[in-house]
Amino acid sequence: MNFRPRPEKMELFLLRYLNCRMVFSESQALTFFTIEKGYEGELKSDAWLKGLTDEWLILNDLLFDYHGSRFQIDTLLIAYEKIYILDVKYWEGDHTTKEDKWFTPTGKPEKNPFHQLERCETLFQRMLHDLGIHYTIESYLIFNNPEFHLYTTSINPAIIFPTQLNRFLKKLNTKPVKLNKKYHELAQQLVDHNIEESPYKRIFPYTYEQQKKGVTCPNCKTFFTDELVCKNCGYVDEVEAAILRSVREFILLFPEKKVTTNGIYEWCGGIRSKKIIRRVLAKNYKLVGHSLTSHFVQRTD
Ligand SMILES: [Zn+2]
Repeated sequence: MNFRPRPEKMELFLLRYLNCRMVFSESQALTFFTIEKGYEGELKSDAWLKGLTDEWLILNDLLFDYHGSRFQIDTLLIAYEKIYILDVKYWEGDHTTKEDKWFTPTGKPEKNPFHQLERCETLFQRMLHDLGIHYTIESYLIFNNPEFHLYTTSINPAIIFPTQLNRFLKKLNTKPVKLNKKYHELAQQLVDHNIEESPYKRIFPYTYEQQKKGVTCPNCKTFFTDELVCKNCGYVDEVEAAILRSVREFILLFPEKKVTTNGIYEWCGGIRSKKIIRRVLAKNYKLVGHSLTSHFVQRTD
């Protein structure tokens, strides 16, 4: 049972919007690529775990704070007196290990993913202990990209390679024990302990001025020119849908800025008149304030 489905990654939405509207530096592009790839891997893992029987409680994307130490868990599986921590790595290419060290396909040293996993397990164990729970914890690194290979001389049972994914799932499914209320309560307790972190804190700073103004095609992200017909993919957009999509983007990127007719007119690159922008805003948002300070806010009714 999927007790906590994976929430939408706001950070990724922000980065996708920014990627359309500004030129990323090399390191910003790498951040975007890493997050996008990581998310792809998590979605693949979620689809794979649909093969688990209903006896499991699945909790996704948890962030905990244990006495000032933060740790994140991609997927947690609760079974009878046992908890599995799964760290999903959607890595590609031929990686190598030498003793305790890991190397990328180009031979650069990379972080040993076990160190992070061990830290996570230790902190989680302490947290559980404080909750009065003493189940066994098993942690696994799940490599679920078929294009991944690891050259290593040691056998580590805590690594699941792409070719072992099916067997691993089969192994888990051989131990079904119906979980009682106690386990559901534990799952709820863990969800209650989860911290929501602002996506703005985690990504690099950006400004309004850096962003290219205009309306983008929802299909291929190309900027519309003078008409709401995409020159790249032929998508034909509707005025209201196009404006509202741009407003949502503006609100997400600049939550501190007020939504005004002039502001949205500029944000949309003047693709439609102020009169039309005002009409769409008034229809979908609530106007507050007077004359110079008036702006639109989310309707609550
Ligand atoms: Zn398009």
